[in-house]
Amino acid sequence: MTTKESQGELHPGDRVRSLFPFFTEGPGGCYLDSAATTQKPAVVIDCLRDVLVNHNANVHRGAYRLSAHATELYDQARVKIARMIGAKSERSIVFVRGTTEAINLVAYGCELLFNPGDVILLSLLEHHSNIVPWQLLAKRRGLTIAFTEITATGELDIADYRAKVAALKPKMVAITQLANSLGTVTPIQEVVEIARNAGAMTLVDGAQGITHLGVDVESLGCDFYAFSGHKMYGPTGIGVLYGRPERLEAMQPFQGGGDMISYVSVEGSGWAEVPQRFEAGTPAFPEAIALGAAADFLTRFSKTEVHHHEVELVGFALETLRGEPGVTLYGPATNGGHQTSVCSFSLDTVHPHDFATIADTFNVQVRAGNHCAMPALRKLGVQATIRMSFGVYSSKADVVSVVTAIREARRIFGR
Ligand code: PMP
Repeated sequence: MTTKESQGELHPGDRVRSLFPFFTEGPGGCYLDSAATTQKPAVVIDCLRDVLVNHNANVHRGAYRLSAHATELYDQARVKIARMIGAKSERSIVFVRGTTEAINLVAYGCELLFNPGDVILLSLLEHHSNIVPWQLLAKRRGLTIAFTEITATGELDIADYRAKVAALKPKMVAITQLANSLGTVTPIQEVVEIARNAGAMTLVDGAQGITHLGVDVESLGCDFYAFSGHKMYGPTGIGVLYGRPERLEAMQPFQGGGDMISYVSVEGSGWAEVPQRFEAGTPAFPEAIALGAAADFLTRFSKTEVHHHEVELVGFALETLRGEPGVTLYGPATNGGHQTSVCSFSLDTVHPHDFATIADTFNVQVRAGNHCAMPALRKLGVQATIRMSFGVYSSKADVVSVVTAIREARRIFGR
């Protein structure tokens, strides 16, 4: 299976809002927190409803038609996901709850492949979910964790990365494709290549990358790629771990239970083939099927056009905010670097949390805090930022509303 760049039957911009009931029937407004979770198009909501109304029967179990059909839809969703990310086989697709569970699954599943003293190399840009599972593993197995440095504007320091790979010979490299805190696009192809040449396993956190950049896992060459449905216009409670078949084969089960076994006896049990080995219990099959609808939706856009739209919004936000007194901007694009879908900033006299509350009175939703990326923010010398994050439905008018809120906040809190 290979991914084909869609010609873009749908185009990002505020006209696409008509496809999202959140904007047409719900609260709407300037929703600028898509990095936390995206709004859902009607095709996803309708698909979820359709499964629950018309096709609801447990998968892999019943001998009756309803269950067989639900299983068929679930299997089709796996194929759609494999196709979207360019995986050779749907056997590489494990349905999980989200990125966090995917990374925990790998950290646990690979546990016995690690020996005391082995090194896991991360970066200071990582979301906590790509740090803490490794710390837990390191504690269990006596491993060392090292972090690749970032520059003053939050770019991955590739020279430091190269040096650490050469010096530390990590067994696992786990790095994000796109940082949720700053919008940093990492040179992920180079990162994976350097790691592979040094014999390391690679995991790419694609929680943001899948939506804003897309991926072809075969040409990227990573061992694992993790993402969440709810950040790619799909449902919550469903996500994906892509793993190379030979890597998945070498992993121990993460959870035991129904559906992940080939047999169970009082003496012991045997494991099912991958990917079922990692899908114990009843899966979130309606959500998985609706994730397939989200994949169909996303692939109706041209990746290039989505990227262009979101980079342009970042550029517009920086340009607009630069002219505002009291604003400090963060991220690679402040210095000509590669950044997309996120604009992080702070204000001189207003705490990010206070700003988010004031912005809300203008029906502008922004995120305030450390964005589950405390090491990155600490490195930049801030505890919290205000973050606007964009999706296909975002527009320059949203950014202009943030400026109105900034002026009001600075009027209230003093300039
Ligand atoms: N990694 C990144 C880069 C993220 O942005 C997020 C969510 N903010 C996660 C991992 C965790 O995703 P989830 O909460 O859906 O498991």
